[in-house]
Amino acid sequence: MKKITAIAVLILLQLSIVAQKTALLAKVLIDGTGKVINNPAVIIEGNKIVAVSTKENIPKDITVINLGDYTLLPGLIDMHVHPSITDDDYQVAHLRTSSAAKALIGLKNVQDLLSAGWTTLRVAGDADVGYANMEIRNAINKGLFVGPHIYGAAHYISVTGGGGDINFISPEQKITADGLIADGPEEIRKAIRNEIKYGSDWIKLLVTGAFMTTGDNPKNVHFSLEELKVAVEEAARRDVPVMAHAHAAEGIKMAVKAGVRSIEHGSFIDEEGMDLMIQHGTYLIPTFTVGLYFEEKIADSKALAKAVELGKKSREGMYSAMRMAFKKGVKFGLGTDNVGWPSPYSAREFGEYVQLGMTPMQAIVCGTKTNAEILKKENEIGSVEAGKLADIIAVKGDPLKDITELQKVKFVMIGGKIIKNEK
Ligand SMILES: [Zn+2]
Repeated sequence: MKKITAIAVLILLQLSIVAQKTALLAKVLIDGTGKVINNPAVIIEGNKIVAVSTKENIPKDITVINLGDYTLLPGLIDMHVHPSITDDDYQVAHLRTSSAAKALIGLKNVQDLLSAGWTTLRVAGDADVGYANMEIRNAINKGLFVGPHIYGAAHYISVTGGGGDINFISPEQKITADGLIADGPEEIRKAIRNEIKYGSDWIKLLVTGAFMTTGDNPKNVHFSLEELKVAVEEAARRDVPVMAHAHAAEGIKMAVKAGVRSIEHGSFIDEEGMDLMIQHGTYLIPTFTVGLYFEEKIADSKALAKAVELGKKSREGMYSAMRMAFKKGVKFGLGTDNVGWPSPYSAREFGEYVQLGMTPMQAIVCGTKTNAEILKKENEIGSVEAGKLADIIAVKGDPLKDITELQKVKFVMIGGKIIKNEK
């Protein structure tokens, strides 16, 4: 009798395991590695993809989710977001918005992004005195909220008078800046140790001036080569990579020589900088969408007047430099510099890559597989392959013919959980 019960339990267990398997069917799969599979069946068990097959080959007793003529893709990865920024006057928003409020705002933003197909985000520092973005990540990882995978830096580290400082208040006023201010090797070491202590798994440096800040110039280099080397060395001892906000050609070269993993923006890059990036294997994240957003949606913002003007003035040169960088073989990741726009707008970045001369497939690979490599998470995310997390999205049309389809994501699954399923 005992034996029979044991066998019955075993059968039931096996049945439940089989029942947990799901086959996701669609017309086409763009798997993130550059491959296209027709009539795909993605087999999911728990939070992982266990096999990628075709419709004819699925086991009979499996749960089926049939997305008809939709196209499946890996969840998108944005390498440059600021979840707690929503105001155009973001440099002073933290003076009237508590870190707790920023956490709520940021949580809403990252959930909206997940729903638009962005299953992984890298935060490039935030305009928050506290650590709201890290707490959002921790809460999601604990399972308190549904949200994307989050990596990144709590703050952007800046020199006094740089892009993370407030440069339009009288010297008598002592206020806390939105960025983390550090001057000289010792302050940089301290700032980096604090960032890592409170959860940053990336360090963000404002190597040059910025477009968005008042009172600085993106063509100026702010940190010295010595400071940059110290920053990379300090972070590397904790196995933390560095992302460098750098517009000026000289700043880009200095950051690459110092050993940063990615250059953010890279607006005024020259050929020597491109060659150095290729030589060092540094990734480039141009972030076109933010400039388009300012110009198209909030061009009348007084707080962003400088950014809008600089964007207009430098766009042509920037695009032709990026075109050359791509042709030469600089490795492109993909990030948007999201500062709180309606989330589907982020996928605009893919279209800009096509304008640089990439095929839609190459642009998609940048925003999936390559981004996963930059994060050193290529064994977990970035493609629809056996062994990876089941982070899968679907669009109605064919993004290889019309890349704007990525702005209309209809189905989102993260870690095997369906977040959105629109017909
Ligand atoms: Zn940014």
